[in-house]
Order: sequence, then C-alpha cells, then structure tokens
Amino acid sequence: MNYNKKTVKDIDVKGKKVLLRCDFNVPMAKDGSGVITDDKRIRAALPTIQYLLDQGAAVIACSHMGKPAATFESYAKKQAEKGKEAKKEDWEKSLKQLSLAPVAERLSELLGKDVIMAADVVGPDAQAKAAALQPGQILLLENTRFEKGETKNDPALAKAMASMAEVYVSDAFGAVHRAHASTAGVADYLPAVSGFLIQKELEVIGGALANPKRPLVAILGGSKVSSKIGVINNLLEIADTIIIGGGMAYTFSAAEGGKVGNSLLEADWEDYAKEMVQKAADKGVKLLLPVDTVCADKFAPDANSQVVKAGEIPDGWEGLDIGPETVKLYCEAVQGAGTVIWNGPMGVFEFPAFAKGTEAIAEALSKTDAITIIGGGDSAAAVQQLGYADKMTHISTGGGASLEFMEGKELPGVACLLDA
Ligand code: ADP
Ligand code: MG
Repeated sequence: MNYNKKTVKDIDVKGKKVLLRCDFNVPMAKDGSGVITDDKRIRAALPTIQYLLDQGAAVIACSHMGKPAATFESYAKKQAEKGKEAKKEDWEKSLKQLSLAPVAERLSELLGKDVIMAADVVGPDAQAKAAALQPGQILLLENTRFEKGETKNDPALAKAMASMAEVYVSDAFGAVHRAHASTAGVADYLPAVSGFLIQKELEVIGGALANPKRPLVAILGGSKVSSKIGVINNLLEIADTIIIGGGMAYTFSAAEGGKVGNSLLEADWEDYAKEMVQKAADKGVKLLLPVDTVCADKFAPDANSQVVKAGEIPDGWEGLDIGPETVKLYCEAVQGAGTVIWNGPMGVFEFPAFAKGTEAIAEALSKTDAITIIGGGDSAAAVQQLGYADKMTHISTGGGASLEFMEGKELPGVACLLDA
C-alpha cells in the first residue's frame, strides 16, 4: 500500500519545536514501584525521536499513561461506584503512580542523553521548559490524561499544547483510534505529520489488507465474538481462509446446535455467527471451525482436562483451548499461505495447560515463508511470552488501534494528518 500521509521526512524541522505524540503507555509493576515491566513501546518510538533530534529539532514529547481520574470529583465518583470513600491523598497517590517520570528515565537511558521532565502538561512548568528548550534537546510532558480535556478532545487543551510548538508529529500508533486532544485535536492548530512507527504499522497492516500476497489466511480468536464482529466481517471481504479459535468458537458451535457446557457463550450473537458462516459460503471464503476442544472442569490453571469433539462438551465443563485435531487442521491451513493475519489467542494461553493451541499456531507461523502479522494486545503478548516474537514479520504495537484498522474503520489520529 502506498502510504498517503506526510511524514517527518516531508517537512523541515531544523531549529523547530516539535510536539511529538508517542504511545508511552507501558506496563508498570503492580506494586507501585515505578518499574517498567516492558519497554517495547518506548523502543518503538526511538527511530522518530532520534531522527528529529539529529535534524536539530527541539522535541516536546507527550503521551498518556493508564486511566487516571483527572479531577478529584471523577475519582470520588469512581470510588463511590465501588462503595468506597474517596480521600484526596489516595487520589494524589493514584496520579503519582501514573506519572511519566519512569518513562523519562528509561527513555534517557535508551537515547543516551538527558530527558527533561515537566511536572505538568500545559501548566507553568511545561510552558517554561518548552520555551527554554534548545535544538537537539528533548522534554517529556506529564501524562496527558492528567488534563480533563484530553479524552474529551477539548479544543482549549489542544490549543494550549499546540501553542508550545511549531510542528506536530504523531507516532502514537497505539492511540490513533482515539480522537483525543493530544492524538487528533492538536492537528487543528499545527502542521501535522506522522513518525516512522505509524508509517510502518500502516504500510505493513494496510498493505496486507489492501493488496495481500495470497492466499491470505486470517486467524481469529480471543475471548468474544462481540469484540471481533467488525474484524470478522471486514476480513470476510478480503481473506481466502478464515480460521476461528478461542472463546468465540463456542458461539459458532452453539449456533450449529452444539453442546458447549460452561464455555464462553454469547447467545445473542448466535444468529450473527450463522450469518458469518453463510457469508463465507456465499463469498467462497474457506471458514474453519474447531473440530475438537480441550475442556476443563473449572476455569483454573490446575483444572482437570479432557479432549472432546467440538459441540460435545459435557455439562459442567468448559472449552479452554482448541484440541489436537484442530491444531493439525489449522497448521495445515497456514502452510502455503502468502500472508497470515492473526488476531486473538486460540485458548486461555495464560494457563500453560491451555496454551498448546496458541503455541502450535505461533510455531507454525514461525516456520512459514508467509508475511505474518500479529494484531491485538493479548495476541502480541502471547507470541512474545511463548518466544516467537522475533520470528514474525510484524507485531503491532497497537492492540485496539490495529483491531479498528482491521475492521476497516477510519483512525482519527491518522485522518487528521496532512495528506502526502
Ligand atoms: P486480543 O487482545 O489479541 O485482541 P482478546 O482480547 O480478544 O485478544 O482475547 C484474549 C483473551 O481471550 C485472553 O485473555 C484469553 O485467555 C481469552 N481466551 C481465549 N480463549 C478462551 C476460551 N476458550 N475461554 C475463555 N477465554 C479465552
Ligand atoms: Mg485483548
């Protein structure tokens, strides 16, 4: 696919202040120690940051982190919903845990240079530090979601952010599906272009959707049909083969009259599942469903398990992985593919006893010559955890964003950028 947005290469940034939206929403240790458990997203932003600094730009980086309550009122409301009392000091502590200060530290290590940290987003500290910033220096603003206008895409916030810079660069692929002040709003006030990460994500995933090397095999799994309807529907227009696994397979099975026991089932979506099977038949798309399943007597890592035929899950048991016959069938379907798009694990891979289906698919993908693209946050985590990450052509850094892109939806954080 020809990438049709302007990038940092298309504009002159020398001596300019550049507002750079990154996705630094990295996983942090649960104990509040500020330890970053996976810095993949910070590393993914380095090529653009390094390029801008080398070009002599002064880089004002920003990102969101987690879901802070931007005001004490909204914090109190959330606490009340949990039946808890809200204390100001607890709110302040919760904000502190979502500070980007640990990101500044890690980014500084990776870049081998100082990263100046601002105490706010558009407050006096950020304004002063941005004004004093020199070419070749980098400043990181505080968590954009500390501002209540961020998720509302408040023009006043967007304008205040834009006022610190002369150019806007977005490289936050993981956040482009959201129209927030820092991901889309600012583009109303500054010339807006993309960084290299967004370009790469859109070229690779967009290329596979628009002009795939065939046959195109889509593997769809994960927990729910309802969260993947858009993807199934859109890929049915494009793919040659669609493979269904994970929790969503049981809704397809139930729709055919199968017994699914306590498996994940979205009864409201059975008609939709039938429709999709029909659509596949009408379009000549091969749709593969599990022929057997590994079921468990409880949802737990140490559950007793047995393999049964699809649609024959005994009462009281639930399907947690695809079975060995299905694994064989799916691995064969992947052989000879030109492109494989994978979204959604085949089973509850978080429990080692039920990770075999997901692992077998990951292994099969690692051995093909096909272009292999992994979208979806949990799928990316599974491939990483199982040790196949470096064998894939592309693992998307954006879970929700890649999902919406595969649904064929417009991404507001991309649509707002200048056309090439
Ligand atoms: P992604 O983030 O890759 O888009 P999803 O969020 O849709 O994937 O689904 C991932 C989750 O689906 C995982 O936590 C996994 O445990 C769960 N899952 C997969 N198969 C099953 C199953 N048979 N029963 C219950 N949960 C499942
Ligand atoms: Mg997920």
